[in-house]
Amino acid sequence: MIGSFVYDALPVRVVFGRGTLSAAAAEVERLGAKRALVLTTPQQEAEGRRLGAGLGGLFGGIYAGATMHTPADVTEAALSIMTESGADCVVSLGGGSTTGLGKALALRSGVDQLCIPTTYAGSEMTPILGETRDGLKTTVRTLDVLPETVIYDVDLTLTLPAALSATSGINAVAHAVEALYAQDRSPIVSLMAEEGIRALAVALPAIIRDPQDVEARTQALYGAWLCGCCLGSAGMALHHKLCHVLGGSFNLPHAETHTIVLPHAVAYNAAAAPEAMAAIRRALGAADAANGLFDLICGLGVPQALAEIGMPGDGIDRAADIAVEKPYWNPRPIERDAIHALLARAHAGEPPL
Ligand code: NAD
Repeated sequence: MIGSFVYDALPVRVVFGRGTLSAAAAEVERLGAKRALVLTTPQQEAEGRRLGAGLGGLFGGIYAGATMHTPADVTEAALSIMTESGADCVVSLGGGSTTGLGKALALRSGVDQLCIPTTYAGSEMTPILGETRDGLKTTVRTLDVLPETVIYDVDLTLTLPAALSATSGINAVAHAVEALYAQDRSPIVSLMAEEGIRALAVALPAIIRDPQDVEARTQALYGAWLCGCCLGSAGMALHHKLCHVLGGSFNLPHAETHTIVLPHAVAYNAAAAPEAMAAIRRALGAADAANGLFDLICGLGVPQALAEIGMPGDGIDRAADIAVEKPYWNPRPIERDAIHALLARAHAGEPPL
């Protein structure tokens, strides 16, 4: 049913395909920039240097120190290198951690960003930046951090290890799932969400079978783009809140945490969000949304229990307390006992209830 809605289209130019990395120099020029600072993690520095060589006279240097959680001291180090190099744009090549650094630099200096994502996290399509300072994470939402241009090159995702592909892909699915029952949902975002879940649900098992399957990689990156658009356009709810609490308080890995929690958060909200559940069922071709997601994840062979990724059993109480501390919107009211039960099941790796 279509009710009233508000939809703000986000102004990002998207170039999608195979071998599209070769368009990087032309895209930098299109931004009107003269010198680009390339950003990567230490693990992807070689890829960043190859990109730099392709930029020719536009290459203004590389900063290969991007790391998880966008720590402010790393951003400040990168900022001083950017200033020294005279760069007037950044090219971020990598996953959400590298994209986060590019956004943090854009926020401080106003430079344009060309973003080249190599995971399925979706940060490149959002006006959201999470940063940490002295162990505290703050999140800002502003168009100042939205990349101007995104190049999706399927070939760059072929090296993403199978397990990371699986968890990063389910992280993307989570954005779409919560967009379907968001308070500010809209018909176009719901279309993107359902299609994004469908594409990833088909692609991820195929990637586990063969990480070099180009057709599956193409579907996955296409799905990740759609799911990233959902995250950029709709507010998130219980699932993202719980993952934020678990990541922040127990230092659990981002994508794995999303993967384990998602079926449980969906089960919690099922009765309160029937239209969203119908869309998820259609996208998965499953009889039940939460169990369909759980089965999909089981088939990927990644951890299903928070205990497996380092969450202590005696942390469940504390996590439940933090998750209910501050009010936030969710289709079903946040009830501490039910949240505690949800976390206990996720901790043990049991199917969702
Ligand atoms: P990541 O960026 O931390 O990457 C994980 C590791 O995989 C890194 O070592 C990276 O170099 C490597 N890697 C990435 N792509 C690769 C490839 N194709 N081949 C080989 N290795 C590759 O992981 P992520 O899951 O993409 O990002 C997680 C971070 O992004 C979190 O900090 C999360 O909070 C943030 N995030 C932010 C938003 C937002 O809208 N602000 C959205 C989603 C995620």
